[in-house]
Amino acid sequence: MKCRRCKDKGKTEKAIIFLPHHNLSLCKDCFLAWYEKRLDETIKKMDMITKKDKIMVAVSGGKDSLALWYALTRLGYEADGLYINLGIDERNYSSTSGEKAEILSKRLNRPLYVIEVKKQFGKGIPDLNKLTKQPACSICGLIKRYFINKVALENGYTCVATGHNLDDEVATLFSITLSWDIDSLIRQLPILPEKEGFVRKVKPLIGFTEKENLLYCLLQRIDYIREECPLSTGVKTIFYKNLLNRVEQKSPGTKLRFYFNFQKKLHPLLPGQIIPPLHSCSICGQPTTSYDICAFCRFKQRVKHSLQT
Ligand SMILES: [Zn+2]
Ligand SMILES: [Zn+2]
Repeated sequence: MKCRRCKDKGKTEKAIIFLPHHNLSLCKDCFLAWYEKRLDETIKKMDMITKKDKIMVAVSGGKDSLALWYALTRLGYEADGLYINLGIDERNYSSTSGEKAEILSKRLNRPLYVIEVKKQFGKGIPDLNKLTKQPACSICGLIKRYFINKVALENGYTCVATGHNLDDEVATLFSITLSWDIDSLIRQLPILPEKEGFVRKVKPLIGFTEKENLLYCLLQRIDYIREECPLSTGVKTIFYKNLLNRVEQKSPGTKLRFYFNFQKKLHPLLPGQIIPPLHSCSICGQPTTSYDICAFCRFKQRVKHSLQT
């Protein structure tokens, strides 16, 4: 198999990957150029960020978010990192993923903010899950949302970028569609605009599959954590991802069509999002739709209460 881009330029180069959904075979150099150009085009077309933005990339130590941080920097965007150490000791998951984030921070010569869940709560996510009986993924989501917004705002960032890829977004959209959850469909956007007390959130990697981000990391020699989160086994999203991979294999391009046609054709027909009035949390001051205390501070109180009894 030969690289198509090279062939167009009258050169012959062996392709290292074939992307059936783009009907494109590429060599190493052409893949890297294609990836970065496509990322920049997505960002500009969707009006996600500009070179004037001060961007905070939420990095997990995995391939997607690290590829994003690296590629944004290569494209000339001002991007720093935030790593939230979830305190998952199983197979050294948290310490290893934190190391990967540190390594890239040094290589890019950009600061990395670190929040440690164990310092905040005295316990990591697995113990918080046992203590409060709340699902680990929901605790993790609550803590991440809270600190991502807080750290970004307190340090003057205009935007937060996350590493959600096409496979993630399609699996979520598929799951929501199966139950016709209209409220969640309304929120399925690659950009959540800023509003009072909330920083803008963007997902620049929505046009890339997991495999493409993985290949980008390998070719750029970005070291990332290979293991999936040990707490995420058996999660329904993984089942949907496998199912959708089989559909994609039979009919390449299905994922791109499903996601981008939803954004283009269906989302504009949905009613606008009803945003409940926001208040300041009486404990931490962060914006919340609750009247008194925000969900994060309520959770913190619950942990404290559980520890006393
Ligand atoms: Zn080529
Ligand atoms: Zn609060």
